[in-house]
Amino acid sequence: MIIMKTDATAEQIAHVVKEIKKHGLRADVSKGAFRTVIGLIGDERKVPLEQFTAMPGVKEVLGIETPYKLVSREYSQYSHGLEHMIIKVGDLEIGGDSLVVMAGPCAVESKEQLLRIAEGVKRAGAQVLRGGVFKPRTSVHSFQGLGAAGDEEAEEALSWLREAGDKFGLAVVTEIRGESQVDLVARYVDIIQIGARNMYDQDLLSKVARKGKPILYKRHFGAGIEEFLSFAEYIAAEGNKDIILCERGIIPIGKGRSYTRYTLDLAAVPVLQKETYLPIIVDPSHATGRRDLIHSMSCAAIAAGASGLMIEVHYAPAEALVDGQQAITPAELKAVITTCQRIQKQVAPRKR
Ligand code: PEP
Ligand code: MN
Repeated sequence: MIIMKTDATAEQIAHVVKEIKKHGLRADVSKGAFRTVIGLIGDERKVPLEQFTAMPGVKEVLGIETPYKLVSREYSQYSHGLEHMIIKVGDLEIGGDSLVVMAGPCAVESKEQLLRIAEGVKRAGAQVLRGGVFKPRTSVHSFQGLGAAGDEEAEEALSWLREAGDKFGLAVVTEIRGESQVDLVARYVDIIQIGARNMYDQDLLSKVARKGKPILYKRHFGAGIEEFLSFAEYIAAEGNKDIILCERGIIPIGKGRSYTRYTLDLAAVPVLQKETYLPIIVDPSHATGRRDLIHSMSCAAIAAGASGLMIEVHYAPAEALVDGQQAITPAELKAVITTCQRIQKQVAPRKR
């Protein structure tokens, strides 16, 4: 990263960017409250870094040790002096002092189902409505989400999400599974979700990033933290740093039954907070696969410092077409939110 002097002019900044591009790299210009920092994107071996040290307006050239740079805490501290980033979705702040809850069905099943759940989660205190239109499923023989029926059906289900969100004053998030879905989904939702299975799809990450919308980015169940952040860098490299990281459980170890769907890695929350300025939320639903564990694991996630939660909710979990075993009711969600808000007040106020 190239750290500019506090009084560097626009011309000097433009000149540095031009030089970077000459070497076939891209530049991330981060204009902060303190100073401008320019991140190099690409193969740094191609650039004689000493050359930049002598350029007008440049204070110093610093290397970042980690494989991820634009999403690293170091990078934002130099430019903004930021400890944590707040992502704005309309009036909603993600990563701020108040708890953010994204809740809704695993899959959108019908307009009636969605509206009823949307009303329930709003009353319970959630701010974002979730609902899958394109479902990643292990078996091709199971329900793949309404989006699988065709473009028209997908668009109809997306329009219900939008309608439910607008009706109850909720932002909406849904998952995209492939590049062909990006344009369509971006027209309807406030936040685009990249699911665990697609964490490594760099072409998909770049394409979604270029839409400029906030992205809910879920950790793959086999990914280490360094890998997770390294791939988040593909989003940031497109100039989109509105990335909400989501811990959703990793593969359990051992031979016997684990009794949970995955292992919720809660240490990931404070570790990620040390490494990055991006907000982190936790999904206890997919992590545990058990509705009886949602309350306790939500509390633990907030105690660990998470900015929010993603929780699957259904008015009649037994009737849900997908993931009913882990869905809680709107009344149960309300209890979770009440306790978690109390816990969040106890967690030390964030430095910014
Ligand atoms: C989901 O949130 O709907 C989902 C499928 O989660 P994950 O990608 O974490 O499995
Ligand atoms: Mn689910």
